[in-house]
Amino acid sequence: MSDSEDQGVREIRIDPIVPTQSVLVATARGMRPKKDEDRIDRDNRSHVETCPFCRGNEERTPPEIKAYPDPKEWDIRIVPNLYPVLGDDEAKPNLALGLQQVIDGYGRHEVIIDNPNHGICVHEMTQDHLKNLFTVYQQRMAELYASDKRLKYVLVFKNFGPAAGASIPHTHSQIIATPVVPENVQNEVTYSKQYHAKHGQCVFCSLIDEALTYEATIYDRESGEIRRKINVGQYVVERGKKFVAIKPFASRYEWEIHILPLQHESDFLEATAEDLEDFANVLKRTMARLDKVVGGVQYNYFLHSAPHGDTFGDCSDSYHWHLEICPRTSIPTGFELGSGLFVSTVSPESAAQALREVEIED
Ligand SMILES: [Zn+2]
Ligand SMILES: [Zn+2]
Ligand SMILES: [Zn+2]
Repeated sequence: MSDSEDQGVREIRIDPIVPTQSVLVATARGMRPKKDEDRIDRDNRSHVETCPFCRGNEERTPPEIKAYPDPKEWDIRIVPNLYPVLGDDEAKPNLALGLQQVIDGYGRHEVIIDNPNHGICVHEMTQDHLKNLFTVYQQRMAELYASDKRLKYVLVFKNFGPAAGASIPHTHSQIIATPVVPENVQNEVTYSKQYHAKHGQCVFCSLIDEALTYEATIYDRESGEIRRKINVGQYVVERGKKFVAIKPFASRYEWEIHILPLQHESDFLEATAEDLEDFANVLKRTMARLDKVVGGVQYNYFLHSAPHGDTFGDCSDSYHWHLEICPRTSIPTGFELGSGLFVSTVSPESAAQALREVEIED
């Protein structure tokens, strides 16, 4: 048990990027149902005869859109979603992305089969493979944006485990291209723009700077004596040459982690091959830490990047792309669903410390 847990934390924290979002950090135990007992028994088979996403069963999916590096010996494969939430058919109102209101037939919904290995986890994939996967995301996003000017946002996300909404156990991600910007991204874009107008800088960059300054010393203005030291580097989980993984100070999910480029960049499409190589390393190490600390974790990750089209005008100075990783370790309570206030029973500081200090293989 860490210091901050000993002291017990009970406070409402306002999200620094989207101030309308807040989280109650209450480290008292037993406040909410835990998911610990229904952690998935990991399906670590590498090939499953009946799985439509396994190699050799290609005819069980709709014809592929693309396969890398080739259609037979593919490493990554893109296919249309058999059950699209967007497309020619009617709306599927249970889509929890705030997009229900706009389904009118010109969105796209595709599946990316991440890896030929059925049960492999992200942290078990090679850095090279992860780099290729994010390069494929990038290429497909660019193609979709170019294919129809009405598309404003291409969301890439991954559901891992049934609690995170994955209906097929074979590792995969999804791409949804929509004529509107999802609400979460819209909020981040709007508020970060306001922050930029007020402070003249990107709020994400400010948070990164803060997170990287391990210790800040506050001096008394009169006497010059040290008044207090604050430990602000406590949110860094992993750091690469170009990317950093941070445990947000007011995160909604106990083990939520964000990965951001250290240098300001608003659009994921502008990340270079060299960027993605470092990104892959930071992602792999971060997921290995999560796996060590939480074990068999079910999660969603999604890419947030500057929207296209002119809905928000230019946000290239104020928005900063990132990957949000949201592990599903507890069930939302009625209080959370009813109030919209998330409850975190692990303090973000102790979570970051546990993730940072756990030993992982190099
Ligand atoms: Zn499979
Ligand atoms: Zn920035
Ligand atoms: Zn975001």
